[in-house]
Amino acid sequence: MRWRGRQQSRNVEDRRGRGRGGGMRLPSGTGGRVGSIGCGGLLLVIVFAVLTGNDPAALLQLLSGASAPSADVGLPPADAAPPSDELGQFAAVVLRSTEEIWHEAFPQLGLQYQEPGLVLFTDSVDSDCGFNSAAVGPFYCPADRKIYIDLSFFDQLSRRFGAPGDFAQAYVIAHEVGHHVQNLLGISTQVRQMQARTSREQANQLSVRLELQADCLAGFWAAQAHRRQALLEPGDVEEGLRAAAAIGDDNIQKRSQGYVVPESWTHGSSEQRQHWLREGLASSDIRQACETFSDQGF
Ligand SMILES: [Zn+2]
Repeated sequence: MRWRGRQQSRNVEDRRGRGRGGGMRLPSGTGGRVGSIGCGGLLLVIVFAVLTGNDPAALLQLLSGASAPSADVGLPPADAAPPSDELGQFAAVVLRSTEEIWHEAFPQLGLQYQEPGLVLFTDSVDSDCGFNSAAVGPFYCPADRKIYIDLSFFDQLSRRFGAPGDFAQAYVIAHEVGHHVQNLLGISTQVRQMQARTSREQANQLSVRLELQADCLAGFWAAQAHRRQALLEPGDVEEGLRAAAAIGDDNIQKRSQGYVVPESWTHGSSEQRQHWLREGLASSDIRQACETFSDQGF
């Protein structure tokens, strides 16, 4: 990636080396990883209704109240200083690039983009979604609209999962930004509410569709960033696809337990993740991109 010397986001909060970080906070009750979102609208609601046997009118009503914006979005913390190390700067450049692309895309959906925060931490962190150890991997917290990453995850991605490269790392950040986009569009709320009313298997299926949509939104960002900012270099897309395959549920299950249980997947298979990253890379119109909820092909 051609990222050096580019503008960095001002929304990065560097909490590395600070232990538990800023003081006590009441957990919101969700207690952990709560990511999610996507594109769509009416069609999506109808598809959900069909999938889940719900009344579309009731779901629409639910959707209309789904994404009330909160007041403190995108404000950099008072003590924010730009990261001074290479990896931190890289994350800030990638985040800035996503801000530019999503600021441009949102008006096409009739909305204004609100920038997420990005918290860099080591070992463990407090968020409005609770206290998390780095073991959960990068995550997005809808309650405070921040992405949380322990950058040592990139080391694991490279060494344990065999997916090195700067674009593999950018894909991970852009995937979490994808969850923020889903949150702003009200899709994650809608999905969570439906998950509460369905079987575990159906809830997992909805989760897979959300995750694949976040992959697709990451691909959409990458394609637009390349078009507008000439960000990609030869080999970058392959790095991203390798990472998408590495963190597919089937691959992770095979590695950790030696067998695969598709009903328990929450993120999608290697093949699905690669497919939707590619779909995003090939999309040029956000209004028609990333319809993971309406696709019947998986
Ligand atoms: Zn995700």
